[in-house]
Amino acid sequence: MRICRFDDDRLGVVRGDRVHDVTSVLDRLPAVRPPFPRHDLLIERLAAFRPLMEAAADTAPGRPVGGVRLLPPVMNPGKIVAAPVNYKKHLDEVHADAALHHGNQIHAIQRAGLFLKATSSVIGASGTVGVRFPDRRTDHEVELVAVIGRTASKVRKEDALACVAGYCIGLDMTVRGPEERSFRKSIDGYTVFGPWMVTADEIRDPADVDLTIEVNGQTRQNANTRDLVLSVAELIAFATAFYTLHPGDMLMTGTPEGVSPVLPGDVMVATIPPIGSMTVLVGEG
Ligand code: MN
Repeated sequence: MRICRFDDDRLGVVRGDRVHDVTSVLDRLPAVRPPFPRHDLLIERLAAFRPLMEAAADTAPGRPVGGVRLLPPVMNPGKIVAAPVNYKKHLDEVHADAALHHGNQIHAIQRAGLFLKATSSVIGASGTVGVRFPDRRTDHEVELVAVIGRTASKVRKEDALACVAGYCIGLDMTVRGPEERSFRKSIDGYTVFGPWMVTADEIRDPADVDLTIEVNGQTRQNANTRDLVLSVAELIAFATAFYTLHPGDMLMTGTPEGVSPVLPGDVMVATIPPIGSMTVLVGEG
């Protein structure tokens, strides 16, 4: 099942190239009172809501997906967990290029740990990445993103994929420089999630999906998640050894080699075949 959010906070089910509006099912979410939950109420209940969404989609007229404004597929991610240098060849390219490492010590992920990006940085596929500091490099990083589906603490690798509700494509946009990763990667608009979320049953093996990004028609990154240093399951075990993951938390799994700068006016097309493809514009910041 492909779930999107679009236009003025509508909820949609994507079938083929059409979006079916199932916003009415959101009326079934519990009314919340302070203190408001920090996790995502729909993702928490996705198993129960799926049949309701399928039924609503059956009767809702479809609209062409190209004619809607795609928002981030998860309403309220509580945190965005991200993996630094999680492909060996990307680690090699960072070590070799001062424009990428800026004199920072770059450690293997097992030693560096994970980092967090601000939720305020998130935009959807129809948003525009605004280059915030034009005199510095802003790079694309295409990544497979896992949407966490349940509360998870101290999870064993063997049990980790059962915590995943679904997947989407992520762009971990990055301004290069000497500051902490979480600071440089949390600029407004520097986290793109989309074009929609596919439920976990549609990706049998997250350790074998292709991911690519083209900029202005030219392929810049082209890899497969089999080359991840830490797999999706290992990343969940690693993260939950330190903190609890909650429904709707987003796990960005790292980017392969081929990161390169983008400029206002560029057009990025990111593709992960079992999910789909999203076209994201780069503009002024
Ligand atoms: Mn990244």
